Amino acid sequence: MLTQLVQAVYVIAAVLFVLSLAGLSKQETARRGNILGMSGMALALLATIALALQESERAVWVTLLLIALALIIGLIVGMLRARTIEMTQMPELIAMLHSFVGLAAVLVGFNSYLTEPVAAVHLVEVFLGVLIGAVTFTGSIVAYLKLSGRTKSTPLMLPGRNWLNLAAIVVSLGLLAWFLVVPTLLPLILMTVVALLLGWHLVASIGGGDMPVVVSMLNSYSGWAAAAAGFMLGNNLLIITGALVGSSGAILSYIMCKAMNRSFISVILGGFGAEGGTVAASDKDYGDYHEIKADEAADMLKNARSVVITPGYGMAVAKAQYPVADLTQSLRKMGIQVRFGVHPVAGRLPGHMNVLLAEAKVPYDIVLEMDEINEDFEDTDVVLVIGANDTVNPAAIDDPTSPIAGMPVLEVWKAGQVIVFKRSMATGYAGVQNPLFFKDNTAMLFGDAKEQVENIIKAL
Ligand code: NDP
Repeated sequence: MLTQLVQAVYVIAAVLFVLSLAGLSKQETARRGNILGMSGMALALLATIALALQESERAVWVTLLLIALALIIGLIVGMLRARTIEMTQMPELIAMLHSFVGLAAVLVGFNSYLTEPVAAVHLVEVFLGVLIGAVTFTGSIVAYLKLSGRTKSTPLMLPGRNWLNLAAIVVSLGLLAWFLVVPTLLPLILMTVVALLLGWHLVASIGGGDMPVVVSMLNSYSGWAAAAAGFMLGNNLLIITGALVGSSGAILSYIMCKAMNRSFISVILGGFGAEGGTVAASDKDYGDYHEIKADEAADMLKNARSVVITPGYGMAVAKAQYPVADLTQSLRKMGIQVRFGVHPVAGRLPGHMNVLLAEAKVPYDIVLEMDEINEDFEDTDVVLVIGANDTVNPAAIDDPTSPIAGMPVLEVWKAGQVIVFKRSMATGYAGVQNPLFFKDNTAMLFGDAKEQVENIIKAL
């Protein structure tokens, strides 16, 4: 009876998760999506605890105590991390959480192998679960280290790196055959070591520019690892949830690859970040740049009819979204058309800029995607590039040798005047110089983006 009830609750939770994803796809409904997801997770937790209590061979209070302990540890770690994390550090937090999912799948796999009867189907489940889990575990740790700046973001270029990946997969398949014929611990342990190395190598060999895809790809892997754990535990909800995460991560990776003009397969196989290009061609002479002060920028804005703001990672660092929202309001009051152009990979995670702008209460209808705004730059008087760099780099279009060649960018240089807000002439995330800064219609406004936007508001 309880088992049937739990299964029914699982179905309700699964429906809530699907509705949650649907809600999260639009800013207007995102809050509702979050609430639906949280409700689904609460139901799932309650049902799972009820089931564990019923199935446990220990005394009820021991099982309860163990579950409470796990919940409290998880709660404390989760709350501490979530409370202290800055929006800019979100991708590294996500990467760290993916590594937990991977590790959990490995542990569930070993536990399942050691405690459950040996059947061929079960062995395949265990093998695949551990394999995907181990790749996700080390891959996510490397992504975390790269994103948090603890290791360099340049790709590791081992000779014949694609062959190394292929060899790891072939060896794993051989170990699977061995494991099926002789189901001992040795092939499982050997495969785990190979998969841990594969996960590490896959992500280590991907360059900084492709990191967004890696984060979402690991998101997908962690979903499949959870689904595999669901098969091993015979838990339908875990299978559904894992498949939802796995497929939505894969779809997001595909969309991002299209946005960056990268081949999905090459990114998945690793080693795509620095193919062909010369990293940071800093010895090239780009000419002189032109510097202005905040009051000059304010004059340019006063005389404009239409303004487009293209925010990037620097706006997040400076927390400039609030003064940017105030500036938008002031300009609109003066009768100037103001719109935002958001690149799909601006900032450090997909949707990063949208979240910041929504937080500062910028109206949704003036925040446009790259494809919606790119044709309008020619008719724009002033573009404010606030802390963006790679996403407005013309080299992506003009220079086939650039590491970011082929990545679609916001074509801001087509506007009458471009004002770039940044602190120095330093490069952006991909480590490449930006010829935009040296164009005749570009003016550099150096300093912290928040302070400079506030200065412009004062001057206005
Ligand atoms: P970039 O990282 O290219 O450039 C950010 C710029 O902001 C820098 O040039 C920096 O210049 C400036 N900046 C930093 N702090 C401040 C500040 N306080 N005030 C003013 N300016 C500041 O940003 P983009 O958003 O254009 O591009 C995103 C990059 O990150 C892409 O290469 C993308 O592929 C990658 N990426 C994207 C992810 C995603 O999912 N969105 C995830 C991971 C990576 P200075 O130091 O001179 O101030």
